Amino acid sequence: MVGEDFCFETKLLHNRQKIDPVTGAVSVPIQHASTFHQTNLDQFGKYDYSRSLNPTREALEEVIAELEGGTRGFAFSSGMAAISTAFLLLSSGDHVVITEDVYGGTYRMVTQVLSRFGIEHTFIDMTNLHEVKHAIKKNTKAFYVETPSNPLMKVTDIKAISELAKEIQALTFVDNTFLTPELQRPLELGADVVLHSATKFLSGHSDVVAGLAVVKDEILASRLGFLQNSFGAVLGVQDAWLVLRGLKTLHVRLEQSQKSAMKLANYLDVHQLVEKVYYPGLKHHPQHHLQKNQAAGSGAVLSFDFVNEEALRTFVANVKIPVFAVSLGAVESILSYPAKMSHAAMPQTEREKRGIKNSLIRLSVGLENVDDLIHDFSQAFEKVRAKQLVLQRGES
Ligand SMILES: *Cc1c(COP(=O)(O)O)cnc(C)c1O
Repeated sequence: MVGEDFCFETKLLHNRQKIDPVTGAVSVPIQHASTFHQTNLDQFGKYDYSRSLNPTREALEEVIAELEGGTRGFAFSSGMAAISTAFLLLSSGDHVVITEDVYGGTYRMVTQVLSRFGIEHTFIDMTNLHEVKHAIKKNTKAFYVETPSNPLMKVTDIKAISELAKEIQALTFVDNTFLTPELQRPLELGADVVLHSATKFLSGHSDVVAGLAVVKDEILASRLGFLQNSFGAVLGVQDAWLVLRGLKTLHVRLEQSQKSAMKLANYLDVHQLVEKVYYPGLKHHPQHHLQKNQAAGSGAVLSFDFVNEEALRTFVANVKIPVFAVSLGAVESILSYPAKMSHAAMPQTEREKRGIKNSLIRLSVGLENVDDLIHDFSQAFEKVRAKQLVLQRGES
């Protein structure tokens, strides 16, 4: 019944969870039970306690494993719970090489929590393989990749990093939140652990916080399963169901948003009030070709620098369609301010070193009509220009 060679969008619907084997239901049943009756004193059934395994969470774990091309998936209470649990694969005395413009929460985990447990780190521009090699130490046990990175959309060569990692028997972790398995499958490129904030594109409707991890290697899978159960930051069943529901429309949502993102990137790229657009789909993006080689698209998130912070402030105050909020990957377009949101956990000097300026804004493109978005942006830019003229007149 399950076709190995189905296209991705078909697999989103026709996977192992298509029909409930007990009732024939076409939607996965939500199993609230925390514990399961055992008929034998010595041998327990497949399910015994829901932290260890729950049928609804298991359904989501099987689906994401299938979509990422892994052997096992794990669902967590948030993306950070997935990432933090994966870091528990490391031990005191280990060293991790990590992408420098990593998600702010991951930055916080690495610098303020792992450091207390004797796990060292080196932040590095992962697009530069020489620098990556240079950062390797005797105790390097993991490479942590986010590609495209947040918010500057730098693209890391997953295959090259994975090969480097294998040479020194280190693990490669890839945060695949921005592209999802629809556009990028890191395990197929040699990565060991794929991580997701399922809060974003996978669920897609700004109505659930969830995290996922997928691995291919069986031994690594049992180690991560052990950690999931030990640490216990598992995803609740209602939330697991919401992610399963969201996944069914991942293809149509992401395809549509990506198309609009490309159009918006082109519009912004030539705008006089925009200093720079960061989007791998643009030909001038430094890793445009790498992105084309390792992924099936550039996704629906882009960032852009205004000419100055004042322009950004006026723009945000006047733009009407996007919500101004933390998060991304939703049906509605979301504008975020990295300096005060996703990267607030990073000190300003560290932020600026990484090029995350106070004039930078991130846009996650939703499902609105793209011409409505462009029209809205244009009127907000007009307000910026009007304000600039007033200021200029005041000066002269
Ligand atoms: C949001 C996000 C996370 C954290 O996920 P939560 O679900 O908010 O805990 C991690 N990585 C990236 C790239 C994200 O965008």
